[in-house]
Amino acid sequence: DPRLRHISDSIRSIPNWPKEGILFQDITTTLLDPVAFGHCVDILYERYKDQKVDVVAGFEARGLIFGAPLALRLKCAFVPLRKPKKLPGETIGEEYTLEYGSDRIEMHVGHVKEGNRVVLVDDLIATGGTMVAGIKLMKKVKADIVEAACILELPLLKGKDKLVEHQVGLYTMVE
Ligand code: IMP
Repeated sequence: DPRLRHISDSIRSIPNWPKEGILFQDITTTLLDPVAFGHCVDILYERYKDQKVDVVAGFEARGLIFGAPLALRLKCAFVPLRKPKKLPGETIGEEYTLEYGSDRIEMHVGHVKEGNRVVLVDDLIATGGTMVAGIKLMKKVKADIVEAACILELPLLKGKDKLVEHQVGLYTMVE
């Protein structure tokens, strides 16, 4: 798929951010290019359009950017998975550890319902800690996880293996 090369070329790498020794993959340059950004959403739409998806759940912050337009295209609900104390209503949450420390994600109670078919979306998977927290959160509310999807995978960190342990498939576009 020639679109994948375009997406890959649109992402820039920033050395030593947010910490010395980290090569940060920055998708804000993808967002500057409506063709590349559009390809990301189109590819996800094509993958999930016949999967009877009820909810796209996007992780703060960059999973919100890719998840919301996907939900619109799929004509399904969008549910934000936020950092603690951001959501105004009653929340349910899950703790996790990530590359740069420990954190927690929360979502509004009742916005994902038992039996809902959910696609989890983020920009990038590294260790898989964030995605596994999303998976656990969806399982807490007895949702069906269709798949986890990211634009970028850092395969050396083996996030995919962690998802396999939870019987969830991972789709990524570029490495
Ligand atoms: P994980 O939990 O270790 O898989 O880390 C993935 C999470 O951290 C995602 O929410 C990413 O947005 C963020 N993240 C980690 N490394 C990078 C990076 O190089 N670029 C962009 N986001 C990153």
